[in-house]
Order: sequence, then structure tokens, then C-alpha cells
Amino acid sequence: VLAIRNIGELVVVPPGPVGGRLMRDVSAVRSATLLIDGGRIVWFGLDNELTVPPDCETLDAQCGCVLPGLIDCHTHTVFAGTREHEFTQRIEGKSYAEIAESGGGIRVTVEAVRAASREQLVELALPRLQRMLRRGVTTVEIKSGYGLTVEDEIKMLEVIQRLNTLQPIELVATYLAAHTTPRECAARPDAYLDLVLDDAVLTRIRDEKLAEFCDVFCERTAFNVEQSRRVLATAKRFGLTPRLHADQITQSGASMLAAEVGAVSADHLETIDDAGIAALKAAGCVAVLLPGCSFFLGVEQAPARRILDADLPVALATDYNPGSAMIESLPLVMHIACTQMRMTPTEAIVAATANAAAALEREGRLGAIQTGMQADLIILDVPNHQRWLYEPGRNCVRTVVKKGRIVAEYGTADGSAI
Ligand SMILES: [Zn+2]
Repeated sequence: VLAIRNIGELVVVPPGPVGGRLMRDVSAVRSATLLIDGGRIVWFGLDNELTVPPDCETLDAQCGCVLPGLIDCHTHTVFAGTREHEFTQRIEGKSYAEIAESGGGIRVTVEAVRAASREQLVELALPRLQRMLRRGVTTVEIKSGYGLTVEDEIKMLEVIQRLNTLQPIELVATYLAAHTTPRECAARPDAYLDLVLDDAVLTRIRDEKLAEFCDVFCERTAFNVEQSRRVLATAKRFGLTPRLHADQITQSGASMLAAEVGAVSADHLETIDDAGIAALKAAGCVAVLLPGCSFFLGVEQAPARRILDADLPVALATDYNPGSAMIESLPLVMHIACTQMRMTPTEAIVAATANAAAALEREGRLGAIQTGMQADLIILDVPNHQRWLYEPGRNCVRTVVKKGRIVAEYGTADGSAI
């Protein structure tokens, strides 16, 4: 039994999905203690009401704030190569099309991933995951989608599976072969889909447990609604739960499709309208917002307040990728959600814990402070959660606990935290 004592503020996040209107009403216990046994939360409450169990180890929270480990439910963390050259071109005013014409864009990443071995992709991703862990992230979803051949997509999924065994963060794999059409199939997107949706490929993904979800980039420049429907419906027959990149650049009917196919989440939603919001609400879909992406590209944010007011459960994620969001810090993205989308710090925390767990179908086990939940927790070196998101430039996470064990402990209030 492990007792985390001397907690300044325990943020009692309820299990997801939490509807948008309830996300700001989360209770907190001051001067709290939390007990962990067998990797699960078994008790929490006021410190002076604790009956100390026998053989109890103690972890002193030093009056810091304690909350569930963060869940980054939409990332592209496995990639090779970087695209800083493009970043500069964009600042200089070049459009996405111009950058693509001069040899930039997603193709650069696809070529680098195809050229990389499994071992190289693992070595590149490990330090990224270590830095994410140090920022309090205990579960991460990672998509394929930079291989764009059957072999290279499988290679990416195998890399995610391998990474899951090499470090403490729980990884969740998503098959995103329908990210874009590769150059060699440019004029024949349906022929490309024939290849990556082949029965043998999907059977292998299912049998080797290489992915839990299937995602598609439903957009005028990628796959249309009809093609996206085919991708998600086919993958669903092989046990892959649908989710999709929806309404990012243009309104393409993707939110309607998310509702129609029973997607667990619709992600991006920068251009969603009221009809799309209503459809997602009726379907019980989680709205995953990625404000780091719009921040990075300098474009309009998703209408978070309208989505919250419609009572949809909202989740937040980094969309970490080398093209449109080279941001691996979920706390920074939560800060951006506060300042650029007018979400309160409490809403941002529920979005990156309970609702992110719901977006990954893990709400019964992860993302909440409740007895029976897995003890994935973070201890901050600040006394309350508002203070955390008020300081975006500093890592305030002092201790990370995964399944009841300390997996990262470092940093102090003197600024030595990385
Ligand atoms: Zn994405």
C-alpha cells in the first residue's frame, strides 16, 4: 500500500465522458491523502480522516496539486525527419500548396519513414515519449499514416507495439493508412484504398493486435466522405473502432459521417457548424480538439465554447507531428486551450484526462480520481491546478505515478525541472 500524503489540492476528476456543461464543475479536496493498492486507487479523502493501513509506504506530495495522469489521445509520435525548412517558408508567406510543390509537406515525412528501419523509428520515438512522461503524460495514442504502403504501415504499427514494451507510457495504436494518397497512387485513391483495406492486411492487424482504432483524414485534399465511409466501415468489420480527422480545413460532412459510422471521436473540428455539433452530440461522439495545431499554423481555432455549450464531451490532444504541430507538451496545449479557445483550466484538465480516456475507450480504467481506477497520477510542484496552466513555460510536474509505481521523479520549485 502506498499513501500519497500532504496533497495541497486533489482534483477529483470524475470518470468520462463528461459533458461540456459539467466540465467546469469538478470538486477538489484540500489537505488530502490518496491510498493505492494493487496499482489502483483504493481510498482518498481528508488527510486527518486517514486510518493508516499496516505496511504502508508514504509519498509526501509537499502540498502539491495531484490529478490523474494526462492522456494524449491524438498524436503522430512515430515519425522520421523534421520539417523546420517548411516552418520558415510558412512564416515567409508560402501556402501549403506552394510548399508541397517545392518538395515539402507530408511527402518528406513519408519518404523518411519509408527509409527508416524499425529500430531507427523506435530510437527516434523513445526520447519523445520520455519527455512526454516528464510532462505528466501516462497514456498516448499514436497513429500510423507515414508509411502509405502496406509494409510501411505495418512497420509503423509494429514500432508502436514495440515502444509499448520499452517505456512506462501506455500506448494505443491507430491505423491511419488513409492519411493521404501516396505519390505513386496520386490519381488512383480508390486503388490505394484497395491495397490498405485488403482482407489479409486487416486480418493481420486484428490477429497481431497491431491497432485498436482506424482513422481517416476526411478532407477535400485527402479522402472524401464516400471513401472515408468505406475505410471506416471496412476496418470496423475487423474490430477496429472508427475515429476521424474531421472538419479541419473545410466542412466536408465529416462530422455527419462520424455520427453515422458510430465513431468514438471526431478530431480537429476547426470548421464544424451547428448541424455537425448536433450530429456528434446525438451520436455520443467525443469532440477531440487540437489547439496546438492551429496555434502552430497561425490559423483559426475550433469553436470550443459552442461545442462545450452544446454539452459535447470535449477532449484535448497535442496532434504531435512534424508538419502542423511539432509540440509534444500536452500541458502547453492545455494552456493554449485556455488562452486561445477560452476553456477554463478545470475544463482543460477534464479534457486531457477523463474525456481523453473516453476517446480511447478507457474511461472505465483511466483518467479519473475514483476508487477502483488505475493509479495513474501526477504530483505538481504548485499548490493548485489553475496555477499550473497559468505557467506554460515551466514544467510543474514533479512526480509521475503509473499503475501505482513512481515512474518519473525529478525537478523542484527551484526551476531544475526540465
Ligand atoms: Zn492528426
